[in-house]
Amino acid sequence: MAANGKPDVLIIGGGVMGCSTALRLQRAGMSTLVLERSVPGAEASSAAAGMLAPGAEAGHPVAEDHVDALLRLGSWSRDLHETQAAWIREEHGVDIGFRRTGAMVVAFAGEEAKLAEHAASLGASYPHELLAGDPAREREPSLSSEVVRALDLPAEAQLEPVLLLRALALAAERAGAVFRSGAYVHEILTGGDRVRGVRVGPEVLEAPHVVVAAGSWTSLVPGLELAAAGIHPVRGQILATETRPPVFRRLIFGAGGYVATRPDGRVLTGSTEERVGYRREVTLGGIRSIVDVATRLAPRLAQAPLRDQWSSFRPGTADGLPLVGAAGPENLWLASGHFRNGILLAPATAELVAHHVLGSAIPEDLPLALVDPRRFG
Ligand SMILES: Cc1cc2nc3c(=O)[nH]c(=O)nc-3n(C[C@H](O)[C@H](O)[C@H](O)COP(=O)(O)OP(=O)(O)OC[C@H]3O[C@@H](n4cnc5c(N)ncnc54)[C@H](O)[C@@H]3O)c2cc1C
Repeated sequence: MAANGKPDVLIIGGGVMGCSTALRLQRAGMSTLVLERSVPGAEASSAAAGMLAPGAEAGHPVAEDHVDALLRLGSWSRDLHETQAAWIREEHGVDIGFRRTGAMVVAFAGEEAKLAEHAASLGASYPHELLAGDPAREREPSLSSEVVRALDLPAEAQLEPVLLLRALALAAERAGAVFRSGAYVHEILTGGDRVRGVRVGPEVLEAPHVVVAAGSWTSLVPGLELAAAGIHPVRGQILATETRPPVFRRLIFGAGGYVATRPDGRVLTGSTEERVGYRREVTLGGIRSIVDVATRLAPRLAQAPLRDQWSSFRPGTADGLPLVGAAGPENLWLASGHFRNGILLAPATAELVAHHVLGSAIPEDLPLALVDPRRFG
């Protein structure tokens, strides 16, 4: 904390965005106070599958002219994860499970053209290989015999989100960040062109900078004008199972979902994309659709025991792209709206927010305009 008892930066929300930003800013010499209404990592960030797969995600509908910029952003962030995971292991003794397992996007009959388009959109510099069904099964023997083509993406990675969140909070705290659990921010306090601080119940907290990292609840924080860029919750359900030996080595995408296998045989399979507000439920319909995806990709999974299930809320935006940067008043910053890729994009987001807060030059090759919250006017 500064000598006047105020932190340099107040961060609203202790998910992957809030914790990553706190750690990055502390390491740059700034003091941070993270205000979390529950506990750090309570929401989407701990519910995620932990896939760091910018190449596979390029097959999802964002406007075509954004694919290249998002690939660069995602690849940069995945590489930052690798460096950060090594640092966390060395400095804090925690293995967060970062592994370059690779991924495969698979096609069933009739989907070949779409897969070829996906491959073409990656460009020559993103490592990928198109395979016919049999060579794909040589690499992943549990793949369904009905898979006719596959896109092998060797650079994709995965990690354990729960361990990542614990490690980020721990590392940020050791670097001097202060976390307040149970601190519900009721209002952002503005005065003129600047933000003064926030109100937590009757208490007013002031700081030179405020970062909003409240995930799917960002639009609900009073005092933040998001207008058309409003962030909405998109529910995702996940089923957890386990297989021995592990069903796949790579992350497998296809049939409208994915199977994420950990090296020890645990498997997360998902997911749904539902606009149902904040209803935290696992539904019979959700279970059915996920089981269909999983068993279509790997018929062997029909024998796997159901170990767990959960749902959480992806912070969705009007154009599917995040909101990172200036949020109106000159000292108010957003780190939110990362939809399906918040774990992947967390280190890159923390870097960008740190550049903004520190006022340092942002490297020109980063696609800042793409994530600028002011793009909605
Ligand atoms: C089922 C599922 C699977 C996913 N899989 C992946 C994946 O494999 N790879 C990937 O990259 N991404 C994945 N995602 C997306 C990823 O989880 C999110 O994009 C990311 O976690 C968002 O992080 P966040 O910090 O913005 O939000 P959150 O983790 O939701 O954190 C926001 C925090 O803000 C707090 N908060 C809210 N309002 C207030 C307030 N007023 N005052 C104080 N605190 C407040 C909340 O309590 C919460 O802890 C998945 C998401 C889901 C739901």
